Formats: sequence, structure tokens, C-alpha cells
Amino acid sequence: MINKHPEALAFNHIFIAGIEGKRFDINIKDGRFSSIAETEPPKDQPAHPGQDLWISPGVIDLHTHLAWTDFDHEDQLKRGSHELEVMQAEAFEATLRTGVTTARDAGGILPSTVRHLVQHYQQPLRVQTSSAMLGAADARGLKVLEGRLAEIFDTGAGWIKIMATGGLGAPTEKVLEPIFSEEEFSFIVRHAHAHHKKVLVHTWGGVTVDWSIAAGVESIEHGMFLTGDQAGRLAESGTAFVPTTSIYSIAADPKGVLALNPVICDRAARAAEAHSKAIGYAKKAGVRIGFGTDYATPALHGYNLQELDTLMDYGMTRAEVWQAATKTAAEILGSGNELGRISSGYLADAIIFNADPYQASNAEELRKSIVSVITGAEESELIQAQ
Ligand SMILES: [Zn+2]
Repeated sequence: MINKHPEALAFNHIFIAGIEGKRFDINIKDGRFSSIAETEPPKDQPAHPGQDLWISPGVIDLHTHLAWTDFDHEDQLKRGSHELEVMQAEAFEATLRTGVTTARDAGGILPSTVRHLVQHYQQPLRVQTSSAMLGAADARGLKVLEGRLAEIFDTGAGWIKIMATGGLGAPTEKVLEPIFSEEEFSFIVRHAHAHHKKVLVHTWGGVTVDWSIAAGVESIEHGMFLTGDQAGRLAESGTAFVPTTSIYSIAADPKGVLALNPVICDRAARAAEAHSKAIGYAKKAGVRIGFGTDYATPALHGYNLQELDTLMDYGMTRAEVWQAATKTAAEILGSGNELGRISSGYLADAIIFNADPYQASNAEELRKSIVSVITGAEESELIQAQ
């Protein structure tokens, strides 16, 4: 159930996820937390096992592709425009239902599409957009890039996405080769920042990680071949790292929901293996790690919480993964002052669980314990939010 912009809502004796043994009375007014006060458990009433509730901030997924419907873009092109729109609305709904209240779309959705889905399909998902992605076809000098950037600025996107290296489509020995020249790369970042746009960089590793740090991008994505030295410099510069780990273990499984061919599965398996090391380096260096899934198909939208499991498999603690998905993710979006925390004055984007989310043995159990999802913003705020 989605509880959209509650005018007034109160929870008594509720637990806050991650704060053990304390109960709170929480009030929401006009879509924001208005008061949070610690309270004693009800004395005169017997305990009601199974009736306790927990609240966590809504999850923020920093890397989704909400407009994509197929792993291969060719397959998406075969679909009609109405079919696509319905599928995109379903992606919004599934994403919200699993407790993701804010998403940064890493390419493929236009702000105008987000507005349409929020308004006409009544899906109150907060989405920051990057519209198109700059990639190999755009690596034709600064003039071409300037024109492409102007087109993206015109869409109203808040982010510029740079495909700095290959991905699963590239042969292993070539995947770290830069797509752009260093001059083109730093031009994009400079030009984006001059227009008050933030920059996220798809890079599997190599020299484009160094370029990203030097140019001052907001976040690097995937980064499985990150080195220990680069992790140190990412931490020092405050550049965020959104590893999107689970998608590679899903893609590596030939029998999994993506069912990819053996060559791609093999590349994904190598990526997944490298990722666990990259997370280790990043954690040790104190890099700001943000939660992102890179989910892009109907079989994956709505299962975003799986990323928590994979990050924990790779060595992060439960408290760290929740922080990556809430407070830190909000800060990476530049919204740390109103999103990502159960705190007075903050937007009431939240998940209500009927079991302690910090005790869930996996994402599936966690997902099934969701009672409702609250989104604080009004529709008019959401359609201006990109
Ligand atoms: Zn992506």
C-alpha cells in the first residue's frame, strides 16, 4: 500500500530500524515528520507479539533505468508507445511498492515522462533524471559534445551521464579503455557543472576513475576494477561510489531472470568477483558508498532490496548498507537536508515493516515484511523535482 502525502498520521510505540530496544511516538503532518519522541512500551497492556511495527526512511536507488523494458534496446524498439508507457508505469509502481521512494535514473527517461507517470498514473516516485547518456557515438570532439549537452540541458535533466568505459557488451580485455579522450571527458564535466548539472560516470575502472576524481564528478558507477589507491583518492575527494553490485551476480547466472548468453554471463561473473574486492578497498578507505541497482527490466523492478544482500555479501555491515540506501544516498543527491532520515522536518518518505528489517535474513523476507510505503511530497512538488 502506498500512502501518498498523508496530511496527518501517527505511529505509537513504533521501532525505528537500526535503533535497538527503543520505541517512539512519531507524528507526520502535511507529508513531513512533525515530531519523533522516545516512549515507554505500553505498561497496562500485554505485549502483542506480531503486532509491532518498524519504520525506516524510504530507500533511495541511485542507479535505475525506469524507462527501459528490455535488456536489449532492439527489443524495446519493437514495442508500441502505449505498451511502453504502461510498462514504465508498472516499473514506477513496483519500485515504490518495494520501498524505494526516490530514484536517480541513470539514463533513458525524460523529465516529461516522469511528470506524466507521476500525474496520470498516480505514481508518487521522486525521480532525478539524466535523460540521455553520452557514449561512443558522441566522442567526436568538443563541438559535437557541446551540441549534445545543449540538447540534454533542454530536457530539464539534473544529471549528465557519461559512459566512460565499456560494460557487459565489451570484450574483457577492452572494457577499461576510455570511450572519450581526456580532453572530451573533462570538457563534459566542466560544461555540465557550469550549467549547474551534476555528473555521474559509468566506469568499470582504469584511467577514467582518475579522470573522474580530477574533474570533480559527483559519482562514479560500477567501478568493480577500482584499485586500493583509487579508493583512497575517491575518499579524499568526497567522490561518491555507486557500485551496483547485484546486477552482475544476477547477470552471471545463465538460469537467472536475465538468462543471458554464456559470453555475457562470463563477463558478468568476472565483474562480480572483482566487485567484492572493490567494495573492500572502498570500505577500508572510507569512500562514500551509495545504493544503486541498475535494474532495467520488469523482472527486476521491485526487487531493488536485493542490492542490500549483495553489498553485505561483499563485506558491508547491515548498518552500512542501510546508510548507503538512505542517508548517504540522500547526500549524494544533494538532498541530505530533507531526505533519507526519520527526523523532524524531513519529508515523510518511509517504509513501515511488521518485522525488524535489521533481522531479515534476506531481501525477499524483508520485502514481504513491508506493510506500507509512505511518500511525503505532494504531486506538484514531485513533478518539479527533477
Ligand atoms: Zn546503468
